[in-house]
Amino acid sequence: MDKKIILTGDRPTGRLHIGHYIGSLRNRVELQNSNKFNEIFVMIADAQALTDNAKNPKKVQENVLEVALDYLAVGLNPEKTTIFIQSQVPQLAELSQYYANLVSISRLERNPTVKTEIKQKNFGESVPSGFVFYPISQAADITAFKATTIPVGEDQAPMIELTREIARSFNQTYGSNVLVEPEMFLAEEGISRRLPGIDGINSKMSKSLNNGIYLADSYEEMKAKVMKMYTDPDHIRVEDPGKIEGNVVFAYLDVFAKDKQKVEEMKAHYQKGGLGDVAVKMYLVEVLDEILKPIREKREELAKNPEEVYKMLAIGSEKARAKAQETLEEVKDAMQINYFKDL
Ligand code: ATP
Ligand code: MG
Repeated sequence: MDKKIILTGDRPTGRLHIGHYIGSLRNRVELQNSNKFNEIFVMIADAQALTDNAKNPKKVQENVLEVALDYLAVGLNPEKTTIFIQSQVPQLAELSQYYANLVSISRLERNPTVKTEIKQKNFGESVPSGFVFYPISQAADITAFKATTIPVGEDQAPMIELTREIARSFNQTYGSNVLVEPEMFLAEEGISRRLPGIDGINSKMSKSLNNGIYLADSYEEMKAKVMKMYTDPDHIRVEDPGKIEGNVVFAYLDVFAKDKQKVEEMKAHYQKGGLGDVAVKMYLVEVLDEILKPIREKREELAKNPEEVYKMLAIGSEKARAKAQETLEEVKDAMQINYFKDL
């Protein structure tokens, strides 16, 4: 049977938030512990983070450790999962260069996620070419590990689609079957695939938009953010009927609360009138803290030994390099540019 391999990752542009947890991290840990996969690679995408943070390498560098701590705190286990840093695997950059020849500029410019991000980032007339190119580099990350399964949020759909196209085009062009077309693995509930930010239902929770509740937030920070959250602007007095649609507090309760019946009862009460925003928010604080407390405590312990975390990343990066090198050799064989192979 063909191998089942996972590759996924995060940009070290900030600490990880509950959108990552529900959209991707929780699935990764479950898939890791299912023992159904032959190999699992999780990448801290520092090179990708630099495509829109070129002038701020310190931010990227500092967040490598933060993201690694988040990983370990939610239960990724380096014995089962290879955790590595993208820039430490130069084979990925080399693969990207060859793949770029198979993708047109207009194809890159059509990418809906990249288009939205370009608008959000206010690049103006100076969109870095590296930023528009990052989906190609992501295709290299995925195919270098021959990944079959990519647990990600919905915003990644165009990247996975492009990766499939590149793999197909490479195999056809060079008469090979070196590259594997990956499948996207989405969270079950729709809203978990693109959790909104605390600022409203229309924006995605994003590190770069500063609208997140972070796994490392203290209880007080988390509570303050919930209390500030967007609800129904017309729900002024407790006795007024309130709206559920577009109400971020209820959107989060749908995703995070275990007691679905209680949430349904609260919704009915809120819509009828007589249930205040503060009471609903206090319940959300309780629900979130039940999930976040153990993660926060484990993270605090791990943060006492950053050298241990870097050692783990160094070992992971070495393993990742070896695997990416194997694929690169096969790619160069297929392209007939492996000149010294038989010397
Ligand atoms: P940035 O703003 O720097 O792009 P981000 O918050 O979008 O940061 P990424 O590192 O780009 O996070 O994404 C890492 C993974 O988390 C991807 O699989 C992505 O689909 C998923 N993800 C990101 N935000 C959300 C969200 N709000 N809901 C569900 N999944 C998400
Ligand atoms: Mg993102």
